[in-house]
Amino acid sequence: MSSAQPTAAEIQAAIRNIPDFPKPGIQFKDITPVLADSRLFSGTIDLLTAHFSPGQVDAVVGIDARGFIFAAAAAVKLHAGFVPVRKKGKLPYQTHEQDYALEYGHATIAIHVDALKPGARVLLVDDLLATGGTAAAAAQLVRKLGADILEVGFLIELSFLKGREKLAGLPVRPLVTY
Ligand code: AMP
Repeated sequence: MSSAQPTAAEIQAAIRNIPDFPKPGIQFKDITPVLADSRLFSGTIDLLTAHFSPGQVDAVVGIDARGFIFAAAAAVKLHAGFVPVRKKGKLPYQTHEQDYALEYGHATIAIHVDALKPGARVLLVDDLLATGGTAAAAAQLVRKLGADILEVGFLIELSFLKGREKLAGLPVRPLVTY
């Protein structure tokens, strides 16, 4: 096995497509093979953090649940804090909440009211950008705390769902695009 940095194409080749999961019509992108391979996992973190050096980011905000995996590792690499955005009802302290639309119905995510200082420089991370509702709601929570989003990083963008339109004005950077 090569020890060189993996390319985005190599990472893409390891992402497994699972048709009709968790319901008919969804092409689920399974990232567990990327996580299980140390070279691909650390290469993914290197690519996600490529625009920044330690000292340039105060906090990496990760989105529940697979976003936590990438955001936490990126935070360690950048010597930044890690802040979770969680589904409503999971965070123990006082929270700000944000509703967003799903295909059917709506969902709510939350952040601790003291998770970020005003002016904090934030890298926002999730595993996958689909319709953009989740990431846009997370971005609103970060902004509500007065923090600045430097970049929104994803392992995967499903570009045909046009999720980045909901993140207008923010630098959106996927590693792999379908
Ligand atoms: P959205 O709000 O539509 O952009 O959905 C993004 C969230 O849903 C992310 O946190 C993803 O983990 C998850 N997600 C949406 N579609 C998929 C998919 N096809 N495969 C894997 N995860 C997905």
